[in-house]
Amino acid sequence: MADDRTIVVVGGGQAGGRAAEAACAAGWSGRVLVLAGEPRRPYERPPLSKAVLTGKAGLEVTDLDLGEAAERVEVRTGVRVTGIDRTARTLTTAHGETIGYDGLVLATGSRPRTLSLPGADLPGIQTFRDADDALALRESVVAGERIVVIGGGYIGMEIAASARACECPVTVLEAAPTVMARQVVRGVGDWFVELHRRHGADVVLGAKVAGFEGEQRVTGVRLDDGTVYPADRVVVGVGIAPNVELADAAGLTVDDGIVVDEHAMTEDPAIAAAGDCTSHPNPLLGRRIRLESWQNAEYQGRAAGATLAGELTRHAQLPWFWSDQHGVNLQMVGLPEHWDREIWRGTPDDGPCIVFLMQDGYVVGAQAIDNGKDIAVARRMIERDAKPDPDALADPAASLKKVLKAAS
Ligand SMILES: Cc1cc2nc3c(=O)[nH]c(=O)nc-3n(C[C@H](O)[C@H](O)[C@H](O)COP(=O)(O)OP(=O)(O)OC[C@H]3O[C@@H](n4cnc5c(N)ncnc54)[C@H](O)[C@@H]3O)c2cc1C
Repeated sequence: MADDRTIVVVGGGQAGGRAAEAACAAGWSGRVLVLAGEPRRPYERPPLSKAVLTGKAGLEVTDLDLGEAAERVEVRTGVRVTGIDRTARTLTTAHGETIGYDGLVLATGSRPRTLSLPGADLPGIQTFRDADDALALRESVVAGERIVVIGGGYIGMEIAASARACECPVTVLEAAPTVMARQVVRGVGDWFVELHRRHGADVVLGAKVAGFEGEQRVTGVRLDDGTVYPADRVVVGVGIAPNVELADAAGLTVDDGIVVDEHAMTEDPAIAAAGDCTSHPNPLLGRRIRLESWQNAEYQGRAAGATLAGELTRHAQLPWFWSDQHGVNLQMVGLPEHWDREIWRGTPDDGPCIVFLMQDGYVVGAQAIDNGKDIAVARRMIERDAKPDPDALADPAASLKKVLKAAS
């Protein structure tokens, strides 16, 4: 007998795509429908600020490969969901359509924060989140325009690196005393500041943006001390906000993200949520977190789809994150709130290196520059609650695997 049940996925980003794929892989024999608000099939964003912006790759590099599920998953693009009726188990769309569901995945992602400053709505000022943003900025980059990036988070710094690689004049305006301060320790942030400066970017720290210059179009960014940085294109990269409004209006619990359990389920047994839009418990960290990362979208998306399809799947991973800037690979593992010691193994000027973040002798986080090998061992140290010998950790000549073995 035909299975007439439907799993609907709202959002055609990475979490949504993976949820749909995982539902099929878990043996769901009903319909799987993705409603993608953007005019594109499910895609992933990391290449947008890297290969797509430099022109090394086209947008096709962002396409999500849904594997064997590609045939099974029905994708409708350009469809925005505007409401959820949890009693009737139906969705309404911006087109006025009503669509029924038996299982629902909310994978609505996040949106960039904007600045409420004089001139902030001038043409030439943009945020950077989706494929259209990347294509718009790519045009400026190809034209060699002067690019000012507001915000030295990792996306802002990737944009700066890509624009410099295409020989655009680039200025980064960051309010904090270093860049990527939310992601990395001061020493790593400072090293990246110098890397960008060596590649010709003007990185201005402690910069407080007060407004924008220009009549028909932006011509510059003004700081609170009156300094104006000329610009043909301004990219505002000051963080994101999770898209929780749909869930909130439907009466689901929202607390800095849609609240889900470790199986990506909300309190409604028919509704899961995954990706940037969720607040979820991380069993390895012992606390609730909201993440903006590829890894989280990938694996929480899978957990959501599989669980809704009947295969209870736990999402329990140590947070891991990467960024690529000027050919340098940065990786971070763990998400410590506190640490009482940093142990550096090598220095970035001399080649691959890693810094361990320690608390009471335990490794609670690590950040590696061009050193994917050691970050993998660091991950195991955190997972195993290892208390390694600090001198051995700091010694690049000592085998890290042996240090781990001795400490486990
Ligand atoms: C430029 C860039 C570079 C990045 N680089 C890295 C990196 O190097 N490493 C890393 O770990 N992470 C990186 N990330 C983060 C990572 O890409 C995100 O965390 C990930 O995309 C989140 O996936 P998601 O599916 O939760 O959300 P999204 O990818 O944002 O997808 C959500 C989708 O839902 C749609 N939607 C929202 N509301 C509705 C609605 N009501 N109806 C229909 N559709 C709706 C949105 O339009 C969107 O298409 C990067 C992000 C960006 C933007």
